Amino acid sequence: KTFEDCGFAPELMRAIAKQGYEKPTTIQCQALPIVLSGRDVIGIAKTGSGKTASFVLPMIVHIMDQPELQKEEGPIGVICAPTRELAHQIFLEAKKFAKAYGIRASAVYGGMSKLDQFKELKAGCEIVVATPGRLIDMLKMKALIMTRATYLVLDEADRMFDLGFEPQIRSIVGQIRPDRQTLLFSATMPRKVEKLAREVLSDPIRVTV
Ligand code: AMP
Repeated sequence: KTFEDCGFAPELMRAIAKQGYEKPTTIQCQALPIVLSGRDVIGIAKTGSGKTASFVLPMIVHIMDQPELQKEEGPIGVICAPTRELAHQIFLEAKKFAKAYGIRASAVYGGMSKLDQFKELKAGCEIVVATPGRLIDMLKMKALIMTRATYLVLDEADRMFDLGFEPQIRSIVGQIRPDRQTLLFSATMPRKVEKLAREVLSDPIRVTV
């Protein structure tokens, strides 16, 4: 399998080549075609597998596929991650591919000034990468609205549960329209995570690496 098989546009192919990604990793081979088809996915994969690109690349395609939505406000892609370190890594990966299209990405996590993040979100973005607690704070402050969000990623769901973020995750999911595409990634699938997946994903396809 190659990245060409995914049907990515030339700009995106150039951005992938620029990263030095020659061929898709195992999780990318399995997940990319399914995510690109618009289906919900449960990905059982660890950090280091290349899981980030398996949801970031289709997110760019998803955003570019919705010109009518581009007039509205608020993020189209919402990614939740357990820690600021992981959120920052995902943000960097998203930015590499978003840049080629002028898509704006923001990172929102604890330990940074709320006022600065409020201002950044107010300026507008198509992608937000966030830790759950800080995203809730920003939603309460009305720094962003979720009406345009149609692509939701819950990354390292098991760790988010371990850190006690289940109520925040449920609150965030409840604020995003039900006709969204939802992806859940987790290294393990404890019963509580399975239950969440059953409740927030529709007819998901499971990929395991
Ligand atoms: P991740 O599991 O998403 O954190 O990715 C682990 C590392 O692999 C990151 O440094 C990525 O930039 C890199 N990576 C992701 N996909 C590929 C690929 N197809 N070829 C080479 N490196 C990759």
